[in-house]
Amino acid sequence: MILFNDQLIRREEARVDIEDRGYQFGDGIYEVVSVYEGKIFRLEEHLQRLSYCAGEIGIELPTSLEVLITNLYKLIEVNQLVNGQIYFQVTRGYAPRNHPFPAQPKPVLTGYVTRKPRPLELMKTGVKAITLDDIRWLRCDIKSLNLLGSVLAKQKAIEQGAFEALLHRNGKVTEGSSTNLFMIKDGKIQTHPLGNLILGGITRIVILELAGQKNIPVIEEPFSLKELYAADEVFVCSTTSEVMPIITIDGNPVGNGSVGPLTRKLQELMEEMLFAHQEKVQ
Ligand SMILES: *Cc1c(COP(=O)(O)O)cnc(C)c1O
Repeated sequence: MILFNDQLIRREEARVDIEDRGYQFGDGIYEVVSVYEGKIFRLEEHLQRLSYCAGEIGIELPTSLEVLITNLYKLIEVNQLVNGQIYFQVTRGYAPRNHPFPAQPKPVLTGYVTRKPRPLELMKTGVKAITLDDIRWLRCDIKSLNLLGSVLAKQKAIEQGAFEALLHRNGKVTEGSSTNLFMIKDGKIQTHPLGNLILGGITRIVILELAGQKNIPVIEEPFSLKELYAADEVFVCSTTSEVMPIITIDGNPVGNGSVGPLTRKLQELMEEMLFAHQEKVQ
């Protein structure tokens, strides 16, 4: 079963018009949330971001956030999802093809569950990354359906046997193609500040929160490719990748080429947080 506006229907019954603006223009936004033990992790923040993005591109969500929350949990229930993800998106809906917004837009919300397991093995061993020019548009703070810049970057990474492409604008590092990027130098964690050049990840917020709680110094300032190469530890993060250690960049080892202690620590802290509601029950 899938979510279609405010209805749960069978996937085969879902009908999206070929002139849906999401299909033709990428005119819409999306979210990916993780479900751990039946509970959506940090849903409020994901919905806040969805509202922000909708506002930025002038789309009115087809249902209230309260109704959306209820429907996302119904979706979990009818699909008997315990651990996995929900992908949901909102497009500006159908209108005869023409660039300006339609006079009376009918936004379309669709959502469905996926069951990809957590990437525990890769989180343990660490992964490779490459660096690439950030060719994306200048509103990377919007989680837009327009993902060509990210798709092309990720494809290049995969073709080179890497997990992620780390993007930079004129030598200033921004983020991964679908992840936020952190580097650690001399015990300090550094990541690009919020703004139009990166997507404000929820996992990024969680990591900053965890670091704060443990008095690990955090710097939210841009850093250069050169600084990235000289880092002691590097990791990327996202809803699906959690805290993913980067052990080589462009073929060169990060630090000593294995997963560093602070990255491990953050993985452990996040793990505790993900399953905290379970521990309380015991
Ligand atoms: C979704 C996304 C992230 C990660 O955000 P989370 O909320 O942590 O999943 C980072 N960068 C980009 C470009 C993204 O699209």
